[in-house]
Amino acid sequence: MHEVSRVFELIERERRRQENTVELIASENFVSENVLRAVGSCLTNKYSEGYPAHRVSGRCGRYYGGCDIVDELEEYCCAKWREVFDTDYHVNVQPHSGSQANMAAYLSVLRPGDAILALSLSNGGHLTHGSSVNFSGRLFDCAFYEVDGSGCIDYEDLAAKLRAHRPRLVLAGASAYSRVIDFARIRRLIDAYAAETGETAPYFMVDMAHIAGLVAAGDHPSPFGLADLITTTTHKTLRGPRGGMIFCRPELAKQVDGAVFPGTQGGPLQHVIAGKAVAAEEACTPAYREYIHQVVKNCRAMCEAFLAMGYHVVTGGTDNHLFLLDLTETGLTGKDVQDELDRCGITLNKNCVPNDTKPPRLTSGVRIGTAAMTTRGYREADFVRVAERIDAVLRRMQREQAQQA
Ligand SMILES: *Cc1c(COP(=O)(O)O)cnc(C)c1O
Repeated sequence: MHEVSRVFELIERERRRQENTVELIASENFVSENVLRAVGSCLTNKYSEGYPAHRVSGRCGRYYGGCDIVDELEEYCCAKWREVFDTDYHVNVQPHSGSQANMAAYLSVLRPGDAILALSLSNGGHLTHGSSVNFSGRLFDCAFYEVDGSGCIDYEDLAAKLRAHRPRLVLAGASAYSRVIDFARIRRLIDAYAAETGETAPYFMVDMAHIAGLVAAGDHPSPFGLADLITTTTHKTLRGPRGGMIFCRPELAKQVDGAVFPGTQGGPLQHVIAGKAVAAEEACTPAYREYIHQVVKNCRAMCEAFLAMGYHVVTGGTDNHLFLLDLTETGLTGKDVQDELDRCGITLNKNCVPNDTKPPRLTSGVRIGTAAMTTRGYREADFVRVAERIDAVLRRMQREQAQQA
């Protein structure tokens, strides 16, 4: 017997941690054994820079020998994902992550210095949507639309900022937004603006990283047919391995493929592409659609439990797999709540709420998602019980805080 590596000891500890905690981080999930097998396979040994030889985009060929099998794999993966979303859009499954997918998507149609309009990070957007600490904010001239007083996307603000900033690309999508995003309305706003100015319309990009699973299952309106570029992660509600993908209108295929490789990446991760293909097979099943319906029902049930106990929820509810608890009235910070719940075996993350008065390292809110525990078999009553446990912890924290004061 050889010595057990320190690494496997740590993996075993992490496996037990995952099994023994209530996982409410909205961006996490538990993949199937088959996804794990694919990602842990010998495909990690293979170099395959380039694209399968018969690729529609015309960027033919790989830069290495021995690629016949991975060519078949990557073609299969692409075909399966088009089936999941019932689309004839072109798809690139090589991005290593959601952030890499966004970088390549921007660079496929923009040049450094071009203007982007997106939802601000503090209102639920993502770092890669133009934050000054991210490449997106450094490379592009970014302007932001906001949410209104109720916490919902302010489409009028979006329309006004289109005219004020004249962006080359308008981005929709979020990491912490619990309501339906009206892609059709944004399309109409962009078209109306273009007709008015007589110029070509800015590109419309949708980053559906969080809600992709809901789009696949028909529980959120689809951006296909409306957006020019659609990016996503594969590891959130889609329940695949960590990674990204880019969908685009067929006429942008060549630009998108070139922006991924050689534009921003080298060799693709074929073991992860295999995992993405397995996840796509799973997402085509009725069982997956049932799973997503349950995620949404669970989220609504848990959110309603918090509302019934008197808590404030940003936008007053949820349409998807997550919601934001606004802790302002409790006097507790998102960070303290996150840490204390960690000690109680409940994992979630602090999150700023719209117009948060506390800095990002503290925040006045927490984000709660139901995708992971629904995979573990939780139903409405289980999530209501977790809400009650969280309430008990929050009330204890408030009592302790009052005693210290
Ligand atoms: C999670 C997320 C990403 C980034 O994904 P990574 O794989 O962590 O890089 C991008 N956009 C949105 C909206 C996200 O929620």
